[in-house]
Amino acid sequence: MQGAILVLSGPSGAGKSTIINHASKDIGDYYFSISTTTRDPREGEKDGVDYYFVTREEFEEGIKAGDFLEYATVHGNYYGTSLKPVKEALEEGKLVIFDIDVQGHRLVRAKMGDYVTSAFITPPTLSELKKRLYTRATDNTSIIERRIENAKEEIKAVKEFDFVIINDKISKASKEFATIANAARLKQSSQELENFVKIWDN
Ligand code: ADP
Ligand code: 5GP
Repeated sequence: MQGAILVLSGPSGAGKSTIINHASKDIGDYYFSISTTTRDPREGEKDGVDYYFVTREEFEEGIKAGDFLEYATVHGNYYGTSLKPVKEALEEGKLVIFDIDVQGHRLVRAKMGDYVTSAFITPPTLSELKKRLYTRATDNTSIIERRIENAKEEIKAVKEFDFVIINDKISKASKEFATIANAARLKQSSQELENFVKIWDN
């Protein structure tokens, strides 16, 4: 495989989708891994674009069939990354971007660490996160409160990541993200380095 993986994690409402959209024109050809989830679509979300929305039964069949590179329960719902499209994109030499939680980051790093660069995105403070979740207004109060409780746990994993992006001003955070994405693309796997040394020594 030739490509590279960039894992983005951070609390729900941190600005991950906003940053990817903002920076997309500055990061060249990439494949965004569309996750599968059992949570309900939010207003405006489309099946096959934002997520593949499935039932718990369908998700559990996928687990049994070994379809997922990783999956986790987040805020009471299943979320998972399908292995097949990721492998195909890596074989085509693409940068594959994942928006997954901190559990997913651990699993992907354990399985494919050689290809992984990771960044944790967070607003400057918890109170700013609360403000953004309430302003986004895509979830009801109990769901928002659950996400805030989860965020207090997720922030503890910040040290496991290669980079941290403090999403205060969107323009600055997007530039930082583009820099990290372009560096991730340049990361060489140990296999590639071994091959390079063999050729270099000839
Ligand atoms: P995530 O994908 O991490 O769940 P979103 O990209 O949906 O987060 O962002 C959550 C909300 O915060 C959205 O309403 C978005 O417009 C807003 N937002 C994102 N970045 C900023 C920022 N730097 N300053 C103010 N609001 C922001
Ligand atoms: P949301 O419901 O706000 O779209 O996402 C909730 C959380 O689930 C976010 O932290 C997001 O990064 C995470 N998530 C989305 N897709 C996946 C996935 O495929 N695997 C894992 N482990 N987490 C995911």
